Amino acid sequence: MEQIFPENWAVLHLGLIFAVTLAQMLVVYVLSDSSNPPAGLGLFTVYFMAALLGWIAFTLQQGASTPLAVDVPAVAAILNSYILFIAAGQRAAIHAGRVLLGLACLLGCLSAFFLGTGQLFVTQVLLATVFFVAAGVVSAVRCVQEKNVGDLIIAVAAVIMFIGTSLSMYQFIGLDNRLLGQVIAFGAHSWAYVLVAVGFLASVLIEYQQHLSHLATEDPLTRLLNRRGLEDAMRVSMAHASRHDLPTAAIVIDVDHFKQVNDSFGHDTGDQVIRRVAAMIERMCRASDVLARTGGEEFLVILTDTDQVAARSLAERICHAIGERPLLVDQQRIPVTVSLGVAATVGEVDLDALTQEADQAMYLAKRSGRNRVASVESAPVHLSNSAAEA
Ligand code: GH3
Ligand code: MG
Ligand code: MG
Repeated sequence: MEQIFPENWAVLHLGLIFAVTLAQMLVVYVLSDSSNPPAGLGLFTVYFMAALLGWIAFTLQQGASTPLAVDVPAVAAILNSYILFIAAGQRAAIHAGRVLLGLACLLGCLSAFFLGTGQLFVTQVLLATVFFVAAGVVSAVRCVQEKNVGDLIIAVAAVIMFIGTSLSMYQFIGLDNRLLGQVIAFGAHSWAYVLVAVGFLASVLIEYQQHLSHLATEDPLTRLLNRRGLEDAMRVSMAHASRHDLPTAAIVIDVDHFKQVNDSFGHDTGDQVIRRVAAMIERMCRASDVLARTGGEEFLVILTDTDQVAARSLAERICHAIGERPLLVDQQRIPVTVSLGVAATVGEVDLDALTQEADQAMYLAKRSGRNRVASVESAPVHLSNSAAEA
């Protein structure tokens, strides 16, 4: 095979870098909702744009007959790597080391004015690697915290940068093979850059997907489960109740005259009241209880291994705690009461039937004057196998 390494390889390389960056940025911008952009998007954009300028400067320098007065690509490599570090820090909400590494970055950039070519190359490669490794550590932390493999790809970019730099420095300083040392550093930087672009894209896509799956099961206003989330959460405990013939209870909670709260105090204050009521109910429930927002101002609690009497007692406490004193929202005292309906069953749980019973009880509480608890007094239907046989 003939040698196909072209003279204008630097231009081809720039084309590849450009294509990867543009494709990545395009997808990120189309996906990102402007009201809720991915964390660190702004700084990552600065990093990609500044890095592209650096690659352009590098490409131009390759073809230039006279070298530039200041080694622009070297300065760009130092600066961009530092920007990557603060971008990764912003994405992970970790800000440690910014000032110290910022000072190192400043000194590195200034050194371009007084260091010789070789010394500047070593400074550039070492500083860029320090910043990349710092960005990699921050991204690895985020990968663990957010369970996002995209951040792991950015951490891998840092590892490649580190290995490449070690080899490069060994060739450049150890063996005095300057050309090979530079080629290795160039290759490591290219790989690392492309991996950061791919890693950031993957991270944003995964975050988006996680957000969507949360939306499907979570209520965005109160962060409680929605009806579907409740059904998912109940699957295991319903099977457990059925197998061991345990009681399960439901409490439906509806805020009284909530329309008036909206009309008198505004919809935003109404939203805050819903949040506060949700938080109060959540505080009074046990960890094993499943709480969901099932309507505008309506909540459902499913209590596992709890009979009607115990459920009614919790409902009374919730009713009393909420109605006891007005809620203080935006410096306004808002009187809020709730009506609650309780129902219970033993053994196999038909969630719809149980909820419907609790709902009927709640309407009974409304009809009886609100700010109270009602329960369906009929004996719970015994649906377990042993009962059917009896
Ligand atoms: P009742 O005591 O009979 O329950 O009276 P109510 O006014 O609470 O009942 P109704 O169902 O007539 O009104 C519920 C109101 O809740 C109507 C709707 O505008 C409001 N609402 C529903 N969802 C939200 C929400 O997310 N935020 C706010 N602020 N209001 C909501
Ligand atoms: Mg209501
Ligand atoms: Mg309602």
